[in-house]
Amino acid sequence: MIKTMIFIDGTWLYSNTYKLSEAYGDPNFHVDFGKLPQVLKQEVSDQLGEADVDMVRTYLFGSCPANYDLRDEEMVARRKDFFEILREEYHYEVEIFPIDFRNRRLRKADRKPEDSFEPREKCVDIALATGMLYYAAIPNAYDIAIAVIGDSDFTPMLQSVRRLGKRVAIASIRGSCSPAFADPRDESRLKDFDIIWLDDILPKLELKYERHQERCESPIHKGDPLVWTTYRPRKGKRFFCEDCRQEFQRQKREAQGEMMEAWEETEDETQNGNGYLFESSLTGIIKRLIPAKSFGFIATDEGKDYFFHLTDLVGLEFEDLVEGIKVEFEVKKHPSAGKAGAAQNVQLHIP
Ligand SMILES: [Zn+2]
Repeated sequence: MIKTMIFIDGTWLYSNTYKLSEAYGDPNFHVDFGKLPQVLKQEVSDQLGEADVDMVRTYLFGSCPANYDLRDEEMVARRKDFFEILREEYHYEVEIFPIDFRNRRLRKADRKPEDSFEPREKCVDIALATGMLYYAAIPNAYDIAIAVIGDSDFTPMLQSVRRLGKRVAIASIRGSCSPAFADPRDESRLKDFDIIWLDDILPKLELKYERHQERCESPIHKGDPLVWTTYRPRKGKRFFCEDCRQEFQRQKREAQGEMMEAWEETEDETQNGNGYLFESSLTGIIKRLIPAKSFGFIATDEGKDYFFHLTDLVGLEFEDLVEGIKVEFEVKKHPSAGKAGAAQNVQLHIP
């Protein structure tokens, strides 16, 4: 049995996946990262003449902004989500390093023109190189390293791994790949396989939203709870059908209209860029429940109130809530002028 390990430069891959969507001619194209390791393994196996190859593990090294302007919170949340899915759903080994943005906006276009700040990527390349070399030096850890990379900085790493007697395959993206990696004659002696262009295997990598049946867990669901959907809930998250989600949206709007006159004010603040300040976690007690409308309020020790809806609960059923129990939550919107804020990720507080 030939063992292979995959080492992915996540920062490079994350910022270049849009090129794959372009190459596929479909802006809605998404890579199925659950399939990627198996597809790469198959490519290597095919090049070896249908050899029996075992994929041991997939490592992904990435970076995430830290200390950034809070207006970009959502962009960062999407990136964290991307890494989180790889770890939770697909069992990647993920290592993430912070990039200090010194309170600036993430996009250069959003920063002042005279600001010469350049974010510094730290550790990602070194961590990937260290990992690949470390396992190359451990007997029987792997026979083939598949590097999903584009940067020529990795040249010495690839050469060293080969000197240790391991075989190297490179998977990359056209237009984002060092010419040395792409060189079919491989003058720098970097690889033992023809380069695997992700661009060429996109149909195998396409994330398909297949129709399947899922059980709606909403207490207000009407009819058969098994419904057809293309939506897959994340592990540990509850599934609500399209009808129920729309009903929740309607209830939320209604609740906001009735109970939170300040809502429109806070919406304006969000548009001005002051909203969406996520804090690590607050605690409070359930102060009031309105079961008919599936929402309630949490009071914190500082005497501030936060609105929450059934869909903001994590690991808790609305029917199980009683006034007075202690909960933990994140701030979706801050309270303003004596009016309630909004909570999300509300869960039982376990001291
Ligand atoms: Zn439903």
